[in-house]
Amino acid sequence: MPLLVPPLLKPPLLSYEGLSVALPGMARPILDGVTLSVAAGEAVALVGESGSGKSVTARAALGLLPAGARTGGQVRVDGTGLVGADAASLRAVRTGTASMIFQDPRAGINPVRRIGDFLAEALRVTGGRSRAQADDRALELLAAVGLPDPARHLRQYPHQLSGGMLQRVMIAGALGSDPRLLLCDEPTTALDVTTQAEIMAVLRQAQRDRGLGLLLITHDLDLAGATCDRIYVMYAGRIVETGTAADLLAAPRHPYTAGLLGSSPPLHGGPQRLTPIPGVPMSLAESAPGCAFAARCPLARPGLCDQSPPPLEPAAAGQHGPALVACHLNEEKR
Ligand code: SF4
Repeated sequence: MPLLVPPLLKPPLLSYEGLSVALPGMARPILDGVTLSVAAGEAVALVGESGSGKSVTARAALGLLPAGARTGGQVRVDGTGLVGADAASLRAVRTGTASMIFQDPRAGINPVRRIGDFLAEALRVTGGRSRAQADDRALELLAAVGLPDPARHLRQYPHQLSGGMLQRVMIAGALGSDPRLLLCDEPTTALDVTTQAEIMAVLRQAQRDRGLGLLLITHDLDLAGATCDRIYVMYAGRIVETGTAADLLAAPRHPYTAGLLGSSPPLHGGPQRLTPIPGVPMSLAESAPGCAFAARCPLARPGLCDQSPPPLEPAAAGQHGPALVACHLNEEKR
């Protein structure tokens, strides 16, 4: 069956072409035929619960796949295939084309080195700058991410900065190699709500100013809708729905997407009764012959949903663009 992706205005900067990743001894793959794309200048979110495979998907864009994994399909960054790539190709992507920002900034920085040394070292090693040039560039980068006194922060140690300030430092570090693609793995999850909004504003500003492709990994569908152009929803290692952010939030097609929206407080509007999704996500030790969401789905039909996994297929187009959904009931709605 041909791989289906929504039409893009520009060729994808990042593309997953049916990527599958399986670990020995597990009942089901971590990723199962993931097809996803991000164009230059486009902000795209990948949303799902913990354990759905989001982070493995993001790391695959740097060629960081679990040791011993069996893989199928391909991931391309600016045309370079990363599955099976040699060390030189991987290094070129990791130090030039793509950068990643992780959830916990304190886990990604040496606590006994000054902020300036952390930033300047990377700028010298990957950018070939002299010490003085690297220091100047580090100053520029800290100012660009909105730190109020960049010269002072360069002399400080990580423990002297708050979590939000340190995440700005990590964003500055990620932008230092002038990447074209920014991968953000839950970049605000460890921060309070006000700081979350500030960090997302910094990321969006950098993305727009530099025309970056941005892949945001998050469990927060509302945050994804507020900051991204398109959204992919992932469940048990598969993409179950994708479309424009506006359409997907206004009229979710997949019962899992609807469940995510119904179980989280909205960013805007008044109080609303929350309805949790029953049950727990399927672990890697479990598999299902049919739809992986069937055991939790309020619309599941015995004899239909438990027979075969629903393919990701075109759904009725939304107001703002095309959509794909993996649900056996999709056919009835097209
Ligand atoms: Fe629910 Fe069936 Fe659709 Fe799966 S295929 S989401 S179980 S209705």
